[in-house]
Amino acid sequence: MFIGHFSLALAAKKVAPKTSLGTLILSVVFVDAIWPIFLFLGWEHARIVPGITAMVPMDLYDYPISHSLIGGAGWALLFGGVYYALTRYSRGAWVLAAGVLSHWFLDFVTHRPDMPIGFAADAPKYGLGLWNSIPATMAVEIPMFCLGIWIYLKATRAKDAIGKWALVGFLGLLVVIYFASVFGPPPPNESALATFGLFTLPLYAWPYWIDRHRK
Ligand SMILES: [Zn+2]
Repeated sequence: MFIGHFSLALAAKKVAPKTSLGTLILSVVFVDAIWPIFLFLGWEHARIVPGITAMVPMDLYDYPISHSLIGGAGWALLFGGVYYALTRYSRGAWVLAAGVLSHWFLDFVTHRPDMPIGFAADAPKYGLGLWNSIPATMAVEIPMFCLGIWIYLKATRAKDAIGKWALVGFLGLLVVIYFASVFGPPPPNESALATFGLFTLPLYAWPYWIDRHRK
């Protein structure tokens, strides 16, 4: 799942209005944001296998640090805990922890059975395989994304033109990346995948900028 994760962060702004949209977005995609770092370090592994699912050409055979359920719970506690220590905003901390953990459950719905519970390499893995169908994935993810945007637009208001157009630009970019990743060519190899992931990390600053221009 890609834009579906973002929809939860957009909707969460209504639940934790004092938390920046930037931090909310970072929470729901946190394990995907750290994953290229672990790939790069060689701590986790993936193979490019065109056609392994209709949506995503990757065999995600080894990523328990970022993508196991227990790992996700650990990252959720860490993320919420650090946020609480910095802000003392407990509602925000709980929402962020739930956001980090939500990633596993959304990925469980979309991935082939490659989602581990714990860290043992030979343990069973789970996934409902929505990614086996592009129309089915989009039929779930696009309405989710629209609903998230709608909730966010009802919960916030632009203070100025930046608050409006920075949001439009960011959401537009997500849609472009989404369609490019589905209909574009697969990454040439694993290290290109990790490098691309690392280069996209600065993009997570963008929603902080949006948040400062909306109320
Ligand atoms: Zn993921």
